[in-house]
Amino acid sequence: MNSAQTRQFLQLYAGSIHAHAQQLTDLDAAIGDADHGSNMERGMTAVLAALPERGTPAELLKSAAMTLISKVGGASGPLYGTAFLRAATSAAGKEDLTPQDVAQALQAGYQGLIERGRAQPGDKTMLDAWEPALHALPQGVAAAAQAARTGAEATRTMLARKGRASYLGERSIGHLDPGSVSSALLFEALAQALEHNT
Ligand SMILES: [Mg+2]
Repeated sequence: MNSAQTRQFLQLYAGSIHAHAQQLTDLDAAIGDADHGSNMERGMTAVLAALPERGTPAELLKSAAMTLISKVGGASGPLYGTAFLRAATSAAGKEDLTPQDVAQALQAGYQGLIERGRAQPGDKTMLDAWEPALHALPQGVAAAAQAARTGAEATRTMLARKGRASYLGERSIGHLDPGSVSSALLFEALAQALEHNT
């Protein structure tokens, strides 16, 4: 994964967030505060605007992280920002990330999510997309993206144990977790950016 692919990943993700903003907001309206789509859309628009002209994959990811942390309200900005920042730290100094480097960066991002969100898989959060995606990653990024989507779908039957949705208790069952859906979009964008090189 080189700089051009990293940039393409961020552009594809921003485009996908834009296309799915209403869906994400509708999902958040059901079990949260109806701002996930608009928060993520504002955040990813700012990410693209602030992205430096040049830089290693790590430098681009770090720029994206700082923008998300400073510009996106709610829980999602700090969470995605932390994941991007940990991934950037893992990838630091490399011009071209091997599939193994990408896997390590994603794993570092996932650890950041666990620490920052104090959640575990099964709590009906974005971890429920990330965990199966990382599990499938040895089979390639396309398999990871598919697993992330399946994982997001599986949040429908889960009881929310973290965040605003947890206040709903049993009423959180029957709805997809919005963060798991935006995470599935992230892995799909990554797979698309890397499609021809892995
Ligand atoms: Mg929200």
